[in-house]
Parts: sequence; structure tokens; C-alpha cells
Amino acid sequence: MQNNAPLPERVLIIAAHPDDIEFTCAATVAKWTDGGSQAYLVLATSGDKGTKDRSLSPHRLAEIREAESLASAEVLDISDVIFLRKLDGEVEADLAFRNQLSALIRSFAPDVLLTHDPWRRYQIHPDHRAVGTAAVDAVVTARDHLYVPEQLAAGLEPHHVSHVFLFSTDSPDHLEDVSDFMDKKLEALGCHASQVGQVADWRDRVTLWAEQTGELIGVQYAEAFKHLELR
Ligand SMILES: [Zn+2]
Repeated sequence: MQNNAPLPERVLIIAAHPDDIEFTCAATVAKWTDGGSQAYLVLATSGDKGTKDRSLSPHRLAEIREAESLASAEVLDISDVIFLRKLDGEVEADLAFRNQLSALIRSFAPDVLLTHDPWRRYQIHPDHRAVGTAAVDAVVTARDHLYVPEQLAAGLEPHHVSHVFLFSTDSPDHLEDVSDFMDKKLEALGCHASQVGQVADWRDRVTLWAEQTGELIGVQYAEAFKHLELR
């Protein structure tokens, strides 16, 4: 089991829903940005189905959740949030989405990509599977110049991503010590009032989860990833 990655220069995070990264990798992002990394977040959907409140329209909910994401991004010192505004629950890992993500990878030129583990067993949320699949596939598309020639023609040079860290994984092989950044994770998650407001003990649950992960490497708190090193 590895722990603690070298500090990335540029990190691109691709997630399905506004609060996905706060539950899974926000403390790692906070650690990296605190160390000087530049981080960019791409949200495939604005989470327009994430409520049990029947008085909220999907449009209004998406507005609320985008504002929550921007507040959280400020806590985590994420430089920019890109909202792709696909419909929540209806994301498909089709060629158009893959190419859209490839253009973003070429444009931000990250050395590290963070996304959902698309191979996690028994993952029932279709968006988590689709976004993870499209993001990993886009790493290949972004890498070689003959893919999507119109991107090259538009000035988007091919880009090689060196490291992919998959969150929400059931096969972790990289545990990042985030003991000094748990407060940032909880503060960022607290920005998502429309979500955590429905769960009374969310702080305890998220803290316990990070504690149990930390125990595996003898630190107070950790976050778990599957690490792909790409040569
Ligand atoms: Zn999600």
C-alpha cells in the first residue's frame, strides 16, 4: 500500500455531482492546493435530482447546488469550476462526452487526474460509472494527436496525464494522509447544505470513515484511491 503522492503541479478533478469530491477526495485536494498545486474541477451534472423536497424544481435545485459547489471550491482553493450541466442520473459515457473531457484535459494539461473508479463493483449510480469511464477513456484520447483532429486544429495540443487517482474505489492501493486537512474537508462538505442538511450525523460519519482509513497506515485521517501511473 502506497501513501502520500508527490505534490502535483496541476490537478484536474472530474466528478458526477456537486458533493462527490467532498465525500471522497476533498482533503487530498486541500492538501495539494495548500502545497501550491493548481486544481480545476469539472462537474458533469449540477445534481438536479438530489432532493426529497417536492417543492424544489430541478432547475432551482441545480442553481442552489452550483452555488454550494462554488463555496466549497473556495474553501478547497480550487481555481475554477466548470459546470457541464448534463442531466443528473442521465450521463452516458458516449464518444461526445469522452471527447468533451479530452478537450478539457488538453486545455488544463494536468499531471494528475482525479475521478470516480468506474470499475468499482456494485456501484449502482449510473453517473458515477459513466463519468469515471468517460474520464479514463478521455486520458487516452487526449494523449495522442490523431484522436479528435479538430481539437489539435483548434490549438489543443495532445497532453499526457501521468497519474490518475480513482476515488470511491473498492480496490485502494494509495492512502493519502490528510490528518491536517480534515477540517477543510468538513468545512467544504458543510457548504453542501442542501445535501448534508438532511443527515444529522454527517460530520461523525465522514470523520469515522477517514479515521478508519487512516488506521490502515497509522495516521489520524486518510483518503483512499486506486492509483494508475501512466507512462
Ligand atoms: Zn454522486
